[in-house]
Amino acid sequence: MKENETEITKRIMERFWEDFPLELDVAIIGAGPSGLAASKYIAQAGKTVGIFEKKLSIGGGIWGGGMLFPVIVVQAEALPILEDLNIKGRDAGDGYYTLNAVEFVTKLGSNVIDCGAKILNGMEVEDLIIKNDEVSGVVINWSAVSIARLHVDPLGIRARAVIDATGHQCEVCKMVLSRGYKFAAKSGAIEGEKAMDVESGERFVVENVREVYPNLWVTGMAVSAVFGGPRMGPIFGGMIKSGKRVAELVLKKLSK
Ligand SMILES: Cc1cc2nc3c(=O)[nH]c(=O)nc-3n(C[C@H](O)[C@H](O)[C@H](O)COP(=O)(O)OP(=O)(O)OC[C@H]3O[C@@H](n4cnc5c(N)ncnc54)[C@H](O)[C@@H]3O)c2cc1C
Repeated sequence: MKENETEITKRIMERFWEDFPLELDVAIIGAGPSGLAASKYIAQAGKTVGIFEKKLSIGGGIWGGGMLFPVIVVQAEALPILEDLNIKGRDAGDGYYTLNAVEFVTKLGSNVIDCGAKILNGMEVEDLIIKNDEVSGVVINWSAVSIARLHVDPLGIRARAVIDATGHQCEVCKMVLSRGYKFAAKSGAIEGEKAMDVESGERFVVENVREVYPNLWVTGMAVSAVFGGPRMGPIFGGMIKSGKRVAELVLKKLSK
C-alpha cells in the first residue's frame, strides 16, 4: 500500500462525522470522576451519551491526587462502583482503599468508552439551548477557539438531559444564572463551597444531586459549589457515587 495524504485526511474527516452526535439523550459536561461515572451507567442503560471535555485529556482532578501525590483514596462504600468499572482498589486498612491516579483515569475512561459513551475532548460547552423554559441542548466550540480568543460562532447539539459535571467552577449552572433564569438553589444563586469537612462533604455531594433547572442536573464538586456543601479533600468515593446517583435520577426521568 502507498500512503496517500488525502486518503488519510478523508478517513479522519469521514470517521469524525460518522461518530459525531448531533442529537443525544444525555450531554455530560466535564470528564472528571463524576461525569465519567455518570456516563458509564447512562450509556450502559442504552442511552446515547456525549461527554464534552474542554481539555485534551480526560480525568479532571484525578491526575493530581492530593497535593500532586498520585494516589487516589476511596472508601469502602464506593467499592461496588469500582467493581462495576472493573477497577480493583488496594486495601489500605480501616475501610480505605487506594488506587494509582493514572490507573484510575485510564481504566475509568476505557470502561466508559466500552459502554458506548462518546468522549468529545478539546470541546467546550459555552452556552445552553433553552426552549419553553427547559434545557434542550448545549452550545459547543473547540476550546482552542476561546484560548486563542477567536471570534468564531459555536454550534448547537440537542440533548434531552444535560449534566453539569464541571467541578468547582459549576460552569453550566452559572450559564443558566447569567441569563436570568430561575434556579433551584435555596438563595436562587450559586451558594459557594464551605470549608473542609470530609464526612459531611462526602454525604452532601451524593444527597444533593438534583435537577437545578428543567433538564439540567448537577453532580460531583459542582454540587458542593452550587448548594454550599463542605469541601472534602482528596477522597474520591463521593465523586463516583454522585455520578452514579445523577445517572439513576436522569434515567428515571428519561423513562417517563
Ligand atoms: C483548587 C482545588 C481544590 C480542590 N478541592 C477539593 C475538595 O475540597 N474536595 C475534593 O474532593 N476534591 C477537591 N479537589 C480535587 C478534585 O478537583 C475533585 O475531587 C474531583 O476531581 C472533582 O470531580 P468532578 O467530577 O466534580 O470534577 P473535575 O474533576 O473538576 O472535572 C471537571 C471537568 O470539567 C471540565 N470542564 C469544565 N468546564 C467545562 C466546559 N465549559 N466545557 C467542557 N468541559 C469543562 C474540566 O476541564 C474538567 O476536566 C480540588 C481540586 C482543586 C484544583
